Amino acid sequence: MKLSKAFIPTLKEVPADAIIPSHVLMLRTGMVRMLSAGIYSFLPLGYTVVKKVVEIIREEMDAIGGQEFHLPALNPKEIWEETNRVEAFGDTMFHIKNRDYVLAPTHEEIMTYHAKGVVKSYKDMPQIWYQIQTKFRNEPRPKSGVIRGRQFLMKDAYSFDTSWENLDKSYALHDQAYRNIFKRCDLKYFIVGASSGAMGGNRSEEFMVKSEAGEDTVAHCEKCGYAANVEVATSVVEGAPRNENSLELKEISTPNVKSIDELCRFLNINETQCAKSRVYIHNDKPVLVLMLGNDEVNETKLASVLPGALRPGHPDELKEITGADAGSIGPIGFKGRIIADLRLKDANNLYSGANKNDCHLGGIDLKRDVPNLEYFDLRTVQAEETCTRCGSKLDVFKAIELGHIFKLGTRYSEALGATFLDENGKVNPIIMGSYGIGVERVIACYIEQHNDEKGIIWDKTLAPYQLHLMGLNMKKPEVIEASNKIYDDLKAMGYQVLFDDRVDAQAGFKFNDADLLGLPVQIIVGDKNLKENKVEVKIRKSGERFTIEIDRLYDKLKELI
Ligand code: ATP
Ligand code: MG
Repeated sequence: MKLSKAFIPTLKEVPADAIIPSHVLMLRTGMVRMLSAGIYSFLPLGYTVVKKVVEIIREEMDAIGGQEFHLPALNPKEIWEETNRVEAFGDTMFHIKNRDYVLAPTHEEIMTYHAKGVVKSYKDMPQIWYQIQTKFRNEPRPKSGVIRGRQFLMKDAYSFDTSWENLDKSYALHDQAYRNIFKRCDLKYFIVGASSGAMGGNRSEEFMVKSEAGEDTVAHCEKCGYAANVEVATSVVEGAPRNENSLELKEISTPNVKSIDELCRFLNINETQCAKSRVYIHNDKPVLVLMLGNDEVNETKLASVLPGALRPGHPDELKEITGADAGSIGPIGFKGRIIADLRLKDANNLYSGANKNDCHLGGIDLKRDVPNLEYFDLRTVQAEETCTRCGSKLDVFKAIELGHIFKLGTRYSEALGATFLDENGKVNPIIMGSYGIGVERVIACYIEQHNDEKGIIWDKTLAPYQLHLMGLNMKKPEVIEASNKIYDDLKAMGYQVLFDDRVDAQAGFKFNDADLLGLPVQIIVGDKNLKENKVEVKIRKSGERFTIEIDRLYDKLKELI
């Protein structure tokens, strides 16, 4: 492609809301343009990359026996009502005003609809069906460019099996396909076990990458690969020590002391000598939750300890429940269930609220003074804590989901009546799995991981073109002739070449554009080197430059690409 004719509108400046590198660089390189919040047009350069990612995904899906479909995005609403997902998606689902249609945010229902009555015997399975198609979700906060769009391209696959054991096999195939896809795309990822959200079902795993644009916070151990959302992650962390001698309980007047930090300053003590109290209302009954020092209650973990209706106590009901306002509440004399974080296990000589405003108690021995106290892991993991699996240090960071594999089970087959006859002639619901990858996210995450201050750094696999040929002074006949000949030769050899043949652009401008677009190898044709029948080659990734005789260029490129 000749740059003089190409529509690659590069930019120097981008809108202020573009902050993360992939968003900035996709705009600056002219890969995409925003049409409206969360809705992006892919321009030719960007779409070339989309096609490459799609092809890799397609090859790997075909390799596990996947069969490609193309389902409509416009769906009759009734099908979604049968699985209760109009309600489950709520405002995230786009509705068509003049008809009972919705725009599909995913395609479990439609694939199951097609399986129903067709996949009807155990002999018809296993099946893996997939498509690479547009999804619509009315994301409340579209941001970070194409990473969270309202319309996006997803590879979604569905497996149909006769048993959970067979589902395990389909699941393992997808797991392997995903590893292959992300490896081929040169993405550094990790895998997090997760709950399956609105999809419903059993086990699931998320393939994630570290990114400031992420909305999940994860704890990750580089050494052993442990990774978990901080909502559920665990770590080894020191508890409060138990001293040999337990002191007597004593009431201390603490006027205006409310927070743990204020208490520590006032009494000149350490936060690991303090038990913080939080009151929750669980199924209409108060529960006191004790945490060590400034540790915050992890409400996801708390909810799994206290299933059912759970909410923090309102400030105005605390006094009635405990006799004091927040800041002076404590375990001694609290009427109701008390649970504590594991870090407080059997601690003594603690300070906590006295259930009396402006008063605290010292010398609390949880073993002696709080009978039947139950301990659970209730806190959120922090960076630098110790990995429970391998003992090395955990990192905590924001991450973004690239892909997700789910064991759906019978959630959709039961709701839509997709059943089969087993070997004994018995009717059973089909056991399903579903597996998604966000195509634009693959591209954005690749750019997040492969860029520098000058621009994108493409690897040959995803690069929109492999070679960036530049004619430096396209007014000189020898440059015009040589660069055009090289361009024709390279194309004839099957390379994908972007040829900067612009006549009016200065050399510096061309160099900057080449680094910005970031194609793997640059070939620079200038009149000085041409005198010796040479061109200059620059490797974008390493910055390495060398001159080479034109005759030898082609062999060298075989080595490089
Ligand atoms: P997230 O938690 O980021 O909203 P999700 O759990 O809703 O993701 P899935 O329903 O599992 O995502 O969809 C499968 C894949 O589709 C995701 O792994 C992601 O790569 C992609 N994806 C989901 N939502 C979006 C979006 N709004 N824009 C771009 N890609 C998306
Ligand atoms: Mg989502």
